[in-house]
Amino acid sequence: ASFGYEEIPAEEKIARVGAVFSGVAKKYDIMNDAMSGGMHRLWKDRFVRRVKPRGGERILDMAGGTGDIAFRMADSGAEITVSDINQDMLDVGLERAVKRGIDDFVWSCQNAEELSFADRSFDAYTIAFGIRNVTHIDRALAEAYRVLKHGGRFFCLEFSTTEWPGFKDVYDAYSHRMVPRIGKAIAGDEDSYRYLVESIRRFPPMPAFEAMIREAGFTQTRVEPIMGGLVAIHSGWKI
Ligand code: SAM
Repeated sequence: ASFGYEEIPAEEKIARVGAVFSGVAKKYDIMNDAMSGGMHRLWKDRFVRRVKPRGGERILDMAGGTGDIAFRMADSGAEITVSDINQDMLDVGLERAVKRGIDDFVWSCQNAEELSFADRSFDAYTIAFGIRNVTHIDRALAEAYRVLKHGGRFFCLEFSTTEWPGFKDVYDAYSHRMVPRIGKAIAGDEDSYRYLVESIRRFPPMPAFEAMIREAGFTQTRVEPIMGGLVAIHSGWKI
């Protein structure tokens, strides 16, 4: 609260998050385009350029959902594991992979807070628009640290708070009024999208989130705001 935000209580997140993503899994990709005006594609492109996946690396795409980040890394020659707590989202991803002729991803249902992978398994850990839905963010960060090798990189793409003054008001109005309406029109689900807007508003601001990443043990942490911080890439190293 000292940072001017108050996280959504654990019980509410647990109750919501499963239902939200199971409910929208099949419409998830269309919704992203509708709500961001296609911009999520550019943010994800930029994110993967920062990650720079290389041949032979093992990469864990956590909260990977329907595979948007993983597909962008497919040509790198890296070994990719897509994990998500929601099997419905992974099923849609798997279907997309089959259509694209990608058969070398590992799809694994996992809770980011409690991974079944051994210590020091991965060269990079990515999480895009996922961490704000995790009930205990600190536990997910601790697990990210644990499963990374020494020299491993952590990357997170997430909504944050834009500091562009005029844009902030437009965006607030848009997200509170329009997003639930678009949710209703396309996915038939107003409530879930109201929750998603709220979860963005109540996510820790950039300095607080960067501090949490350092707290988990990562060093050389960096924040790269996009559109004034509407979206941000946080990164760090395990050394
Ligand atoms: N990364 C994908 C993308 O950028 O399109 C999907 C993002 S989607 C907004 C958020 C995902 O986080 C959902 O698929 C949801 O099931 C997943 N998720 C929520 N809580 C999780 C947890 N505790 N562990 C793993 N995944 C979780």
